[in-house]
Amino acid sequence: TPTSRTQTTSTPQDQKARTADLDAETLWRQDRDHFIHPFTDFSQFHDKGCEMITDSDGIYVEDVHGNRFIDGIAGLWCVNVGHGRREIAQAMADQASRMAYFSTFNNLSNAPASQLAAKLAELAPAHLNHVFYTCGGSTANDATIRLVHYYFNRLGKPNKKRILSRRNAYHGTTYLAASLTGIESNNWSFDTLSELVTHLSEANLYRRPEGMSESEYCDHLVNELEAHIAKIGADNIAAFIAEPIMGAGGVLMAPRGYHKRIQAVCRANDILYIADEVVTGFGRLGHFFASEAVFETQPDIINIAKGLSSGYSPLGASLISDELYAVLGTPQCKGGVLSTGFTYSGHPVSCAAALKNIEIMEREDICANVREVGPYLEQSLKSLSHHTTVGDVRGSNFMMCLENVADKATGELLPVEARVGDRVAEEAQKRGLIIRPVGHLNVISPTLIWSRETVDTAVTILDEALSATTASLK
Ligand code: PLP
Repeated sequence: TPTSRTQTTSTPQDQKARTADLDAETLWRQDRDHFIHPFTDFSQFHDKGCEMITDSDGIYVEDVHGNRFIDGIAGLWCVNVGHGRREIAQAMADQASRMAYFSTFNNLSNAPASQLAAKLAELAPAHLNHVFYTCGGSTANDATIRLVHYYFNRLGKPNKKRILSRRNAYHGTTYLAASLTGIESNNWSFDTLSELVTHLSEANLYRRPEGMSESEYCDHLVNELEAHIAKIGADNIAAFIAEPIMGAGGVLMAPRGYHKRIQAVCRANDILYIADEVVTGFGRLGHFFASEAVFETQPDIINIAKGLSSGYSPLGASLISDELYAVLGTPQCKGGVLSTGFTYSGHPVSCAAALKNIEIMEREDICANVREVGPYLEQSLKSLSHHTTVGDVRGSNFMMCLENVADKATGELLPVEARVGDRVAEEAQKRGLIIRPVGHLNVISPTLIWSRETVDTAVTILDEALSATTASLK
């Protein structure tokens, strides 16, 4: 039942015992003085340092001071089956005790990596039967581009190099993944491999050109792609990469039919279609993979990470089509090997975590919970649209976002100094709910075990947080 899914798996005494041995002050200092945090604002960090999250259980996380919060962001869109799953911890411990690590290069393998590859082939769309393991989402996207270039080189089409991405896309932060990423602020003062990537327009229904209907907007985006292909030549383009719903860029929703039409244009031009399902995969939209089930596309490659292991251990993967594998799986020359991969490709402990994670997802039918509770979350969040600062409530199922604005009619934004996204998140956290501020936006991407009751609690907190924020902005 939904209630039993959200029950805690350890007692309050357990929790206290676990935090009591941690000295909050020492931890805070060690962290501030030595840990270079990703995506952190250093104008505040040196004074404020970080909040230390030390414990977790079911839908909750707890800080070093013993304050408990509902986790409204699933860690970082990843703890899909919820926190504190002893079964996953046990599977990892068993594998680590038996054989923590051994190479997967040069015809060596391990049991969990082989079993997981077969399981992923079973779950994925029919033509995706081959798995290339990586350490996370960025490395999956990065490795994929390398493989795609290799593929076209092998086919005697060495000019097919350019990758089409979109403004406000997020594909990670290795050099190449950061270059695919189209969120401008992510690359401020960084360099990118711009000669390899074209960023087309984002697909953003909320901020589409004024006066355009949804279907006209779709035509507009498809026309843009066709015009770009005509301009630089299909012979120079290797692939199009897209998140089914653009996550970190602001949970941007594409017009109906967009993905299908874009894929058709790609196919007609011998351009591979890569779906970055690092966020949308593993249940967030109610299916293991959203590409086929929700968006009716058949990507040549689907990249996954995050929910694959529910964040219990780092893991990513690229699911590769039979057609591509027919080329990748033959040597390029006498003595040639597929010289790409990582020390931790197919890491046994991470693969054991992923196998148990999938077992739990299937046993508890977590995708069905998302399909049942997801629309309720959407509808409940939409009830917050009456707040004067809420310009748009969008997303799908367990991938949602509030866009805060100064003027609902025009969509004009508040000044950056208003820190509206931060304020809403801070007000929510004071009341026991963690959501994510992304500039002027607030992302809600919960663990996939929320019940309707949890949605009610969270939305009540958000309602109060928005009222407090609006009052403080006056
Ligand atoms: N792709 C998407 C769509 C993501 O949202 C992310 C991370 O948020 C990545 C790729 C990068 O994954 P990682 O941080 O595991 O490298």
